[in-house]
Amino acid sequence: SRTPIIAGNWKMFKTIAEAKEFAMVVTNELQGVTGADMVVCAPFTALAALRDALTGSNLLLGAQNVHFAEEGAYTGEISPRMLTELGVRYVIIGHSERRAYFNETDETVNKKVHASLKHSLIPIICVGEDLDQREAGQTFTIVEEQTRAAIAGVAANQAAELVIAYEPIWAIGTGKSSTAQDANEVIGHIRKTLAHILDQETANRIRIQYGGSVKPDNIGEFLAQTEIDGALVGGASLVPDSYVGLVRGA
Ligand code: 13P
Repeated sequence: SRTPIIAGNWKMFKTIAEAKEFAMVVTNELQGVTGADMVVCAPFTALAALRDALTGSNLLLGAQNVHFAEEGAYTGEISPRMLTELGVRYVIIGHSERRAYFNETDETVNKKVHASLKHSLIPIICVGEDLDQREAGQTFTIVEEQTRAAIAGVAANQAAELVIAYEPIWAIGTGKSSTAQDANEVIGHIRKTLAHILDQETANRIRIQYGGSVKPDNIGEFLAQTEIDGALVGGASLVPDSYVGLVRGA
């Protein structure tokens, strides 16, 4: 019995003012709602204001990236401690957009996972195949390799906290979601991989989300699957009513 986790990934959207407005509506609408962990992964610049706006609510704060070093001469980067100081609980690591546009690799993902766990930040590790890989029948291999690399050297007792997001790249922002059955199979394979690397009991505790064109009206199908423990949502997490709809639809 894993607690579902619904996380919004705002990507490079929302100013401080827009983030505050979102929080005002959503915290009010979702007051008293339980049964799922609700997370908002905001741009760095909105985190402090959002922390204040979410105080006393059941929504949790997330970031979209983190550096792996404690501190240092890394112009433009943000350390784990800078995030925990702001009340950040979750951090997305290895999103396909960061892998594609910002040189994120399996190796940096692994370093970021270790650094985050050390500071009690819960990583949301993204894995997923692109269209060519899917058509070549490589989906299982790709997610298996990415998963293995991401958690290399992580001890089982720490790994239980992890969240993994299976996001097929061809389904991101395209309106073309995976079928719930397909996503369930791939996620089942990721869990099998986790059981191999760690142990079955730990694998059973790790939450694995689906991401890619999730909307209020299809989230229910995904969450009804045995292996799918939540959703990582881009576009549909930006509009307050739609975020509320995601939580209600789950
Ligand atoms: P969309 O929900 O907009 O398809 O984005 C998915 C995603 O990349 C979440 O991280």
